[in-house]
Amino acid sequence: MALVVQKYGGTSVGSVERIKAVARRVSKTVESGNSLVVVVSAMGKTTDTLVGLAKEISSNPCRREMDMLLSTGEQVTIALLSMALKELGQPAISLTGAQVGIVTEAEHSRARILQIQTERIQKHLNKGEVVVVAGFQGISNKKDLEITTLGRGGSDTSAVALAASLKASRCEIYTDVPGILTTDPRLVPEAQLMDEITADEMLELASLGAKVLHPRAVEIARNYGVSLVVLSSWSDAPGTRVVSPMPKPRPMEGLEITKAVDGVQLDTDQAKVALLRVPDRPGIAARLFGEISRQKVDVDLIIQSIHEGNTNDIAFTVVEGVLQRAEAVAEAIAPALRTQPSASDEAEVIVARRIAKVAISGAGMIGRPGIAAKMFKTLSDAGINIEMISTSEVKVSCVIAREDCDRALEALCRAFEVDSSSLPSVLNSIAKTEKTPPVRGVVLDRNQARLAIRHVPDLPGMAAQIFGLLAKKNISVDMIVQSQRCRIFDKMPTRDIAFTIAQVDADLAHSALTELAKNIGCGEVSVERAIAKVSIVGAGMIGQPGVAAKFFTALAKEQINIQMITTSEIKISCVVAEEEGVKALKAVHDAFDLAGKEKIEMPA
Ligand code: ASP
Ligand code: MG
Repeated sequence: MALVVQKYGGTSVGSVERIKAVARRVSKTVESGNSLVVVVSAMGKTTDTLVGLAKEISSNPCRREMDMLLSTGEQVTIALLSMALKELGQPAISLTGAQVGIVTEAEHSRARILQIQTERIQKHLNKGEVVVVAGFQGISNKKDLEITTLGRGGSDTSAVALAASLKASRCEIYTDVPGILTTDPRLVPEAQLMDEITADEMLELASLGAKVLHPRAVEIARNYGVSLVVLSSWSDAPGTRVVSPMPKPRPMEGLEITKAVDGVQLDTDQAKVALLRVPDRPGIAARLFGEISRQKVDVDLIIQSIHEGNTNDIAFTVVEGVLQRAEAVAEAIAPALRTQPSASDEAEVIVARRIAKVAISGAGMIGRPGIAAKMFKTLSDAGINIEMISTSEVKVSCVIAREDCDRALEALCRAFEVDSSSLPSVLNSIAKTEKTPPVRGVVLDRNQARLAIRHVPDLPGMAAQIFGLLAKKNISVDMIVQSQRCRIFDKMPTRDIAFTIAQVDADLAHSALTELAKNIGCGEVSVERAIAKVSIVGAGMIGQPGVAAKFFTALAKEQINIQMITTSEIKISCVVAEEEGVKALKAVHDAFDLAGKEKIEMPA
């Protein structure tokens, strides 16, 4: 008999009728020979309503009382569902988080699960009962046994953590959409349902999928190899499977990683090619990477930073063995990118050998400010200069001199408390099958603003100070790019640093950084609000030349100018003008053949 964990979200249990429908689905699953643990959310918008009540009483209610209040929502659902099951003749019992032994840290409103004591659930399952568990809540590990909640959307996390602890054969997340889609169907009606996605891809697509499946749940599934599927509770369609590789064995204590970073990766076989002062107009990146992919050269990191005037720098890394070929392509293209045939201060190629890439990764960094800053600070304390920075949702990569890499690795493992003996190589840490397409999904983010700081002295510690300050102000930073061009300013070599943050934080960041820039000898700080970020995500892009070129070409065909580029192994992001965001999203979604004819039914 297989053990299945099912989770039903708020809309799926939004009314008595729907709870009865869930009960029918649950008992059908039991009849087909499974034992079942069912995790439920609060009915409909209950949690929001409770938050509203609290706000009417206090503008800043204490977190302990909020947990006491919000945890009641789920308790209503478990009782009603358990009654509905008994009405159908299906033995069932409802249990709160505390009763099933979901032990969490003592952090009200954002507790992480430390461990689940499964004896009680097991006892009821053995009696043939369906165990109905309140999602989103737990009990603290301190002697006071406080009720805690896991943070909004936390029921997914409860479900996957239970599946991991009980070694369930699968975990099914029932929601009001048919699964994970290739992009936002409100913007691109041709968006299609995916049959499968890897957990790594899902994490990089967090901004697309987070409403459907909480990133913390995805991380637990990946770490414990939980077989996970997201599907609609309105139909019998198979939904989207979230696949994870066979994980290495891990203890069941400390189930949710309380650390923001769970891996440090090092890649020593890297060389850099940079094109300086290329014209800032549509089609340049497409042309460069198009030519490079025709030469079958696979590029790894790509960054493009912004500049005063009308030129950009584009830099990329390759494995050292193909550096000559990559350099030759760049050299061949550079003259054609000069505005005047003889202008020697334009389009210049520089290469760097003997460099290494160090990266930190972990879903815990989503929405947690200060992780990148801590990495930069750690490197600067070790006296290591950062040559390139590239960031994604769950990863920060820095290019440094190869001779610094042992020191960097040691310092980062110490700072983030990651065991350096179990370091996965970057590529082995990412799951991919023969079938994995180069691009799984495309996302648009229109809520970001771009800040740029000019003339940052090229010394260790500058990035650490800038991003340390933002972290102190509780501002999460997204894309970070450091310019390649080095300009001498007051006898000091300087670079520009640009990054994106949420638009709501732009004013605060601007005033704080203007102050700091004065004190540490940087130039002007500028803000641009009218930007959009378009990203492609796919594990199949690893080792496959031409994916970046195709992305940039799709934008060039629409005459869309690329303002910034950053990448991780499985993600490429471009900043474009805000008004071109949707057009860019559609063009890129089309270019990778993700568009389909079938219209996906979405709830209103
Ligand atoms: N009821 C909680 C919320 O609305 C938890 C959940 O539904 O996942 O955030
Ligand atoms: Mg949810």
